[in-house]
Amino acid sequence: MLATTAAADDRGVNVRREVIGTSIQGRQIEAIRIGSGIPVLIVGVIHGREEAGLAITDLLERMAPPSGVEWWIVPNMNPDGVAMNLRGNANRVDLNRNFPYLWAPLGRKGYWQYAGPSRASEPETRAMVDFVRRVKPVFGIWYHQDLNVISPSTGLEGRLRRTYASLTGLPMKRITGGTYTGVAGTWQRRVHPRGMTMIVELGPTLDATQAQTHADAVVEVSELLRNEWK
Ligand SMILES: [Zn+2]
Repeated sequence: MLATTAAADDRGVNVRREVIGTSIQGRQIEAIRIGSGIPVLIVGVIHGREEAGLAITDLLERMAPPSGVEWWIVPNMNPDGVAMNLRGNANRVDLNRNFPYLWAPLGRKGYWQYAGPSRASEPETRAMVDFVRRVKPVFGIWYHQDLNVISPSTGLEGRLRRTYASLTGLPMKRITGGTYTGVAGTWQRRVHPRGMTMIVELGPTLDATQAQTHADAVVEVSELLRNEWK
C-alpha cells in the first residue's frame, strides 16, 4: 500500500513522497521526507477547519532542513474534514481525541470533541500511528487554529518552543478550554523515548509573509534541535 517515489532534487537533498494511508472517503494521506538525520514530524492539518498550517507545509515542501535533520511533512492527515469543512473526519470523530495514549470515551457523534467509539478507531489515526511508529520522530510540530498561542515546557522541548514563539511572535501560555484525552501530540511524544512535541496554535488568519516566517522558524528550531540533541 506504500507508494514511494525518491529523487535527489536541486536542493541537493533526498526527497521522498509516500502515501501513508487513506481517509474514510478514499482520499490519500501523504508524507514527504526531505533530508536525512534526526527525524522531525510536521503536521499541517489535523482539524479540518484549521487549514492555515497548509500554507506553512506548502513552503516547507520546497525548502530544505539543516544538514543532519530529516523532515517528515504530513500536510493534511484529515483530508475529508478539510473537504467537508468539519473539525473531525467524515465520521465526525475529533482525530485529536482519537489517539491511543490516554484515550477515553468523550461525547458522541455531533459533540465537537467526539473521541470515536474506541482508541485509534479511525483510518486517519491508524495511518498516523503506523507511520509515526516507523519514523519515530524526536520532535513533532502540529499546527492548529486559532488560539494564537504556544504552551510552555521545560528542558530542550521548552527551548524549542520558546525559540519558535519568539521567532513568530506567538505568545507563550498554557492552552486551556478543551478535554485532552487521546491527543495526537501527547501520543507522538511517547513513541520516541525522549520524544518532544509542540502544538502551534496559529491565529484566525495567516498571510503569505507570516507563513514564510513560520517556515523559517521550523528551519531555526530544526537547527537548534540538531545542535542540542545528544
Ligand atoms: Zn485544533
